[in-house]
This record gives sequence, C-alpha cells and structure tokens, in this order.
Amino acid sequence: MKRFVLLWLASAVWLVASIAILEKAELKKGELRLHFNGTYNKSDIRHFTLNHPYREIFDIPNARLKHSRVGKGLRSSHCHSIRISQYKRNTVRIVLETERGYGCNPYRPLFSYKSYHIPLPPFKVGKKHVVKKSGKKAKTKVAVVSSPKKKHGKRRRAVASKAHMIDTSKNISARGSGELIVIDAGHGGHDTGAIGGGKREKDLVLQIAKRVERQLKKRGFRVYLTRRTDKFLKLPQRTHIADRKDARIFVSIHANSVPRSKRNRIHGIETFYLQKTRDAKSQRIAARENRAVLKGAGTSLSKKVIIDSVLHGPKIIESNKLAIDVQRRMLANLRAHYRGVKDGGVRHAPFWVLVGASRPSILVEVGYISHPKERARLFTPRYQELIAKGIAEGIQRYLNNRKREIEL
Ligand SMILES: [Zn+2]
Repeated sequence: MKRFVLLWLASAVWLVASIAILEKAELKKGELRLHFNGTYNKSDIRHFTLNHPYREIFDIPNARLKHSRVGKGLRSSHCHSIRISQYKRNTVRIVLETERGYGCNPYRPLFSYKSYHIPLPPFKVGKKHVVKKSGKKAKTKVAVVSSPKKKHGKRRRAVASKAHMIDTSKNISARGSGELIVIDAGHGGHDTGAIGGGKREKDLVLQIAKRVERQLKKRGFRVYLTRRTDKFLKLPQRTHIADRKDARIFVSIHANSVPRSKRNRIHGIETFYLQKTRDAKSQRIAARENRAVLKGAGTSLSKKVIIDSVLHGPKIIESNKLAIDVQRRMLANLRAHYRGVKDGGVRHAPFWVLVGASRPSILVEVGYISHPKERARLFTPRYQELIAKGIAEGIQRYLNNRKREIEL
C-alpha cells in the first residue's frame, strides 16, 4: 500500500491530466458496466482472448482503479470469474473467465461517454470447468488478482482451481502436438549479410533465431530452424522446408543496414510481409536482401512468382496481421528495458524469401547493424532475448486471435 501511494505521488504530476479513473464496476442487465470519472479513449482499449481456460481480456491503458475495492466480489452465473486489477501502473485489466467464445462485443453507450459496457456470455457456465478441446498450447500466464476470499463462493473456487490443475497437466502432455513454426536465420556461409563495425548480420540473426526457438518451445510450439550453423542455404531450401514441414508460420530474421553517410541517423525495428510496394525505402531494403538471397540461388524464380504470390489475398492479410503482432510485442519488450527503440513500422515489400512459403510469412529486420549504438545493443544477450521473446509472443498472440476468429 505504501508503495502504491509513493508511486501515485511520484507520477501524479503528469497523471492528473491524462488518466481516467475507474470509479465503479457493476453487473447490470447481463453486462459488466464500467464507470469512469471522465471520458476515456475507447480506441486504446485492447481486447483479446486466451484459451485454457477461456478468457476475455480487456487492457485499459491510461486508467487507474479509484481504490482497491473496485470490482471486487463481482459474481455471475455466466462467468467462472470476473477479475479487475491494476495490471500495470497505468493499465487496468479486466478478465472474464468463461467456457467458450461468445462474440463479446463491448461498447460505449451513446449517452454515457464515461461508461464502457462489456456483455457477459448469454449462456451460464457449468459448475465444473469443462475444457472443450485438448490444449495445444502450453499453460498461459494469467494476471491473477489477489483478493481477500469471501466465505461463500469458496467451494466453487476450489472446484475451479482443481479443474485448472487438471487442465495444466493435459496441456503439458499435449505440448508435443504444438504447431510448427519455421524460423529462418537469414544469410549464412559465404553470404555474410550486412556488416557493421566488423559485426556480421549472419551471426547476429543465427543467435536470435536460436533464442526464438527456445522461447517458442517454452510456449509449447514445435520449431524448425532453417539453419543452425554458419552455412549458406539456397533460396528454395529456406522456403520449401517450411512447405514440406507443413509449418504454420514462417519467420525470416534479418538485420538492416544503410550506407556510411546515414549510419548515425537510421535505426529501428521493422517487420515486413510480402507484397509489392511503391515505397522507395522498402524497395531498397528488399533489393538488398534479395540480392544476397539470389546470389547463387540458381532458381528460375521470376517476377511472375511474386505476382502470383501477391494475388494470394488471404495469405497477405494473415501475414500482415502476424507482422503487426510481432512488431508490437518486440517493441513492447524492448521499450520496457531500453530507451529510444525506434518503431520502423510494419511494411510490405517483395522479398524473395517470403515468396515460396504458402503460409503467413514475415521478415523481421531486428535493427540496423550499421548504427553504432543499435549494433552494440543487438549483440548483447539481453537485447537479443527481448527481441526473441517479442517474436514468440507475437506469434502466440496472432495464433490465439486466429483461433478466436475460427471459434466465433
Ligand atoms: Zn538480411
């Protein structure tokens, strides 16, 4: 509590203007209704779901609970639990745990800009927590709200938590059936990729690829690395591996570079998906990466291949979504520990390495090896680990959202 007060005081100066205070949360007419002290930014609220157990989650940034009792003791026969917490210093998290997806469509009432209404499921939840599908994923972290347990309702909690334990063991045993992700470390062998300050792109991206592999395995995915050593792969070897192995996702990892005259200015993280572009900068990056890949590739890839691939609409949309999730999570992880990490954005460009893979495919440029400061960071284990974690989280988030779309 003391810490809370100190934090509050320390940040109060700039908080006052921009922070919405969640004053009250109530259950009314089959909805969870949140009431703020003023208007809040609805478009900033992040709504997503997680499975095993199924949860609707809402992160409300720039918001604080008025006091620790807001939202405590909310109970409904339509949810296993309703939890409201100060998830981060300025983020309030709402978690509705229920049995399955129900197309939860929250809204701001027309005449009450200070409120946010979250419909509960139309169905009641069973007494026991029934798991509909065998878990493919590893156990997911839940933001647990520590609340003093009330006397009644204890029994149901006990039943639920027992069921959770069973879930967890199921998930662990089902881990091996996780989806296959192909991670492609760019370049290799005689193809060094970009070089800056004596450091080589091919070494950096292999280190990061191996970290991504560990991060993904920890989350229950299967992982295939296109290379584990410093060797050159022909282009079809990279992408056809993904096809042959029936991978769910293909991620190629690279580092960027600009000529000497710009090296102190240009830095940041970019994520690309395959599509034609008119953007000159994206074209230059694609040209540089393509040149390396095509050198000695010995394939008859033509422009037509790219055009055919570009016409694959749904794959592009999916790749775009994947790129957004990965880019966001990389930035979030890095920015939590480093200052001045630049968001180069999600862009599209005709990368050859993405052409052959008939699944959501992205190319991550983890940073500029030409930029002295960014280069120094890129070669530290900590920075690499945060990038790897971001990529894994982005993949996980993308797949979770994908499942949700299918369920609805
Ligand atoms: Zn590269």
